Amino acid sequence: MNLRPLIARIDTAALAHNLAVARRLAGRARILAVIKANGYGHGLVRVADALRAADGFAVLTLDEAAALRAQGYTHPVVLLEGWFHPDELPEIARLRLRPVVHREDQAEMLARARLDNRIDVLVKVDTGMHRLGLPPSRVKAVVERLRAAPKVGGITLMTHFASADEPTIGVAGQYARFQAACEGLNLPVTLANSAALLRYPETLGDWVRPGIMLYGVSPFAAQTGEALGLLPAMALDSALIAVQNVRKGEGVGYGPAFVAPRDLRVGVVACGYADGYPRHAGTGTPVLVDGRLTRTLGRVSMDMLAVDLSEVPGAHVGSPVRLWGPGLPVEQVAAAAGTIAYELLTAIAPRVRVEAV
Ligand SMILES: *Cc1c(COP(=O)(O)O)cnc(C)c1O
Repeated sequence: MNLRPLIARIDTAALAHNLAVARRLAGRARILAVIKANGYGHGLVRVADALRAADGFAVLTLDEAAALRAQGYTHPVVLLEGWFHPDELPEIARLRLRPVVHREDQAEMLARARLDNRIDVLVKVDTGMHRLGLPPSRVKAVVERLRAAPKVGGITLMTHFASADEPTIGVAGQYARFQAACEGLNLPVTLANSAALLRYPETLGDWVRPGIMLYGVSPFAAQTGEALGLLPAMALDSALIAVQNVRKGEGVGYGPAFVAPRDLRVGVVACGYADGYPRHAGTGTPVLVDGRLTRTLGRVSMDMLAVDLSEVPGAHVGSPVRLWGPGLPVEQVAAAAGTIAYELLTAIAPRVRVEAV
């Protein structure tokens, strides 16, 4: 039994709403809902169920893909980094998954593979991010090789943008390189992550790959998801498990990180870095107590953190605390902690109860 008050509440209607927003923006492009990293921390199968109106799913590992197939999902399922070991290929074929091919030796491997059925693949082009992908100059040769391979079915061309969320850089350079590399091949293409889907309609292509926006979170530093018409899909909620009257000059939590500048009422919240709350969130990180905006105090502990109750005089043991969610955008908590919402959502620890609402 776990009656610790910390709980991540997942709003499945919000997930469906955000998919509808993506759908409107995507026009005729199909939607590959990106649900890697345990559905960005929201739960893989729970998210797939809420997003079953998507045209396909994108995950990272064969285990994730197999879990989707075991649940009966027949959608196209893309493996965003392809296979990590050739031993995965027979299972990829059997489950009719679509791996990304990002190195030339992988294309060779496929061309020689003995598989029970043909597999559809995505060929990733490195247009400037220099992480995964073929150099643009090699794309045509590799596509020819794959077209001649007996076990390769459909081929989709793919690239990923490094700076779609940064207005000063944008996507123009990478987009032009991708167009040039794909010219004349007459294959379906996929380019856009959430930021490109929201900001660069010229990049929609045949499939878009929204991730973070489906969870109600903005990919842009200057805007929250709510400002984009999205609804936050996760509320990380807890409660006060103690209230301390701390005298002026006394510390709160580990080390000298916070010393009370005056007599203070301090609330102790059941949530710490072992739950995924960022330890680098310093004094002043926003938090809601009883629905009122206040701030954290001192260092985050493994299992607890402290909050200032000066502005919440009625707060008591058991008072509800929202670490992020509706009314407190996770983007704001992330910014205060010097990180991004992606990291906070995907860091939710296995010990945190997660429930759909
Ligand atoms: C994670 C990922 C996405 C989704 O990106 P968001 O910024 O979350 O929308 C899209 N494409 C690829 C290749 C990814 O790895």
